Amino acid sequence: MYPGFIATAKSEDVAPAGKSFRWAMDTEKKHQVMYQNALNAVNAKKADSLPKVFWVCPKCGNTYDVAKPEASCSFCSTKSDKYIKFGK
Ligand SMILES: [Zn+2]
Repeated sequence: MYPGFIATAKSEDVAPAGKSFRWAMDTEKKHQVMYQNALNAVNAKKADSLPKVFWVCPKCGNTYDVAKPEASCSFCSTKSDKYIKFGK
């Protein structure tokens, strides 16, 4: 659905909306990989190997499943000290 939203935002010359939809689409692509990895781990009875900590960029929703995320968001450049941490 996001490509259509992005095209509409572009045709209506609403750049901020297009940027937001692009960030959402890119984040959902990362989530898809994380969900698939989780499903694979559960099916292999290796759920203990899954990440325990997730970081979410409050501006764009970009999600990191690493112990220490990169210094700034790869989508919107928000500094990592602004990220919301989930897990321990
Ligand atoms: Zn971001």
